[in-house]
Amino acid sequence: METVKKIIDKYNADPTRLMDILTDIRNEKGYIPHELNQKIANALGLSRADLEQTLSFYHFFPQKPTGKYTVYLNNSVVANMMGRDQVRKTFEEEAGIKFGNVSTDGSIGLFNTSCIGMSDQEPAAIINELIFINLTPFRVKEIVRDMRAGKPVDQMFRANFGDGSNNSDLVKSVVTNHIRRKGPVLWDPHTPGETIRKAVRMTPEQVIDEVKRSNLRGRGGAGFPTGLKWEFCSKSPAGEKFVFCNADEGEPGTFKDRVILTELPKLLFEGMAIAGYAIGATNGILYIRHEYKYLQKHLEKALDDLRAENIIGNDAAGIKGFTFNIRIQYGAGAYVCGEESALLESAEGKRGEPRDRPPFPVDKGYMEKPTIINNVETLCSVVKIIKNGSDWYSSLGTRESTGTKLLSISGDCRFPGVYEVEWGFSIYDILQMVGATDTQAVQAGGPSGALIGPIEFKRKLGYEDLATGGSLIIFNKTRELLEDVVLNFMEFFIEESCGSCSTCRNLPYILKNKLEKILRGNGVMQDIDDLQEWSKILKFSRCGLGQTAANPITTSIKNFRYLYEEKVQKDKEFYTGFSLASAVKESCEATGRNPIS
Ligand code: SF4
Repeated sequence: METVKKIIDKYNADPTRLMDILTDIRNEKGYIPHELNQKIANALGLSRADLEQTLSFYHFFPQKPTGKYTVYLNNSVVANMMGRDQVRKTFEEEAGIKFGNVSTDGSIGLFNTSCIGMSDQEPAAIINELIFINLTPFRVKEIVRDMRAGKPVDQMFRANFGDGSNNSDLVKSVVTNHIRRKGPVLWDPHTPGETIRKAVRMTPEQVIDEVKRSNLRGRGGAGFPTGLKWEFCSKSPAGEKFVFCNADEGEPGTFKDRVILTELPKLLFEGMAIAGYAIGATNGILYIRHEYKYLQKHLEKALDDLRAENIIGNDAAGIKGFTFNIRIQYGAGAYVCGEESALLESAEGKRGEPRDRPPFPVDKGYMEKPTIINNVETLCSVVKIIKNGSDWYSSLGTRESTGTKLLSISGDCRFPGVYEVEWGFSIYDILQMVGATDTQAVQAGGPSGALIGPIEFKRKLGYEDLATGGSLIIFNKTRELLEDVVLNFMEFFIEESCGSCSTCRNLPYILKNKLEKILRGNGVMQDIDDLQEWSKILKFSRCGLGQTAANPITTSIKNFRYLYEEKVQKDKEFYTGFSLASAVKESCEATGRNPIS
């Protein structure tokens, strides 16, 4: 308990820092022992139920030992396409255990996990918070041999470290950036501090006006006008306000924020400082997904540099009285925390359950104070808008969708990676650019987006046509779209639902069961209609996760209905798939009875 007490003291026994406290305890002990729960709760002035509801919510707060070496192998659709199953089998054979278990000697634990933001270099796994990419059965044998020999995980790499800052002393990761196309906004040269110094020579209203004139819209997917959000928050009653950066990119197929956080962290932090100046906030919080823990020292160093250069901190950017501090808040593995109100709950040390709205965060956000939450790419774009002007920015892209978009492209193409393009690129343009051939379908916008076929490849990226948070997964004609893609996405939504709404808790299961019935050859035409009809009920869910959880089903029926029709029985109106003879076979064999025919 002494160690735990020190950890709690480090956070001044502040219950709103529960995520950090649990993370530190896990790091210290490898898991969070059950017998500590009451003691931690008492020390923080929480009920045990309050503590355990947070503890049990997150994927990376294990309550049992997970092994000296804990392997979290990504089970996203792209990982499966790139050979995950062979990698999984080899891990199981070499470790002598099935996934979901720890070896009897406590040395190796094997676990599945949702997308870890490495779709451009799958199959990938997190082992004791370090990333291993491009796994093969051969490589897995080497890794398990190293584990058996007791090697530290950071000495298990065989490949060179990745490019750019991945290769720096503070990261030392084999992850590769795969920056395939540098565009005019994010990769426009940046001198840290130059733009915030320009911003503070303007009034906060002028900064907000400039962002409004640029027509910048949130790059996380929802597309809400950034300047308007800032204006609402700036008009909230004076007092403490917060700027949040949402770096919890958990949508399978998305990894662009990973690259920004690796290569452009100072640009991002400067964007947060400009936002702070504009709305009158003194504190900013970068909420980042646990999967990017390997970047922590690198990000902390970037903040230290900015403090040392007086770009953030007290009298920031040389302006007396302008204070802006930034801290980093790690999540612990929950996709729903990408939803802004769930993110705030999590940052306050609670379950990541979306809030009812109104009130909106701009009025009542973090700790019930006015708060803006912006995406990583959005905040980086703000710096360039203030630096180069809104006219420059809005000259890029299209009328409705100004500027550029950073895309994470993965799947069946020669050059997976990140591409900064002006809005207005068509899917055809993109397929050519990334070296994709024989393309059957593209998942635009991750599982909550749309599965589109060739007839829609002429559609253009933009809010006026095909809006996207930036993930494009490409499937060639060898892929079984229903088995490989739609089923995987439904399993993802089932796993990631917070369980608060009955619609979101139940419907994805029911839809998945019906899809499996069709895939087994037991479906009829009515089942396809049921899938479409029942999907509508999900729209009544509280947050975007539930509201979009049926999109894999509805968009695949809309664009690939023939795949469903090929599998259903056309000559029957109703078929349950239930066989009495098969159901009683085992008991008949055990009792020696013959079923009545
Ligand atoms: Fe939770 Fe799903 Fe409801 Fe969102 S829609 S609040 S994830 S149960």
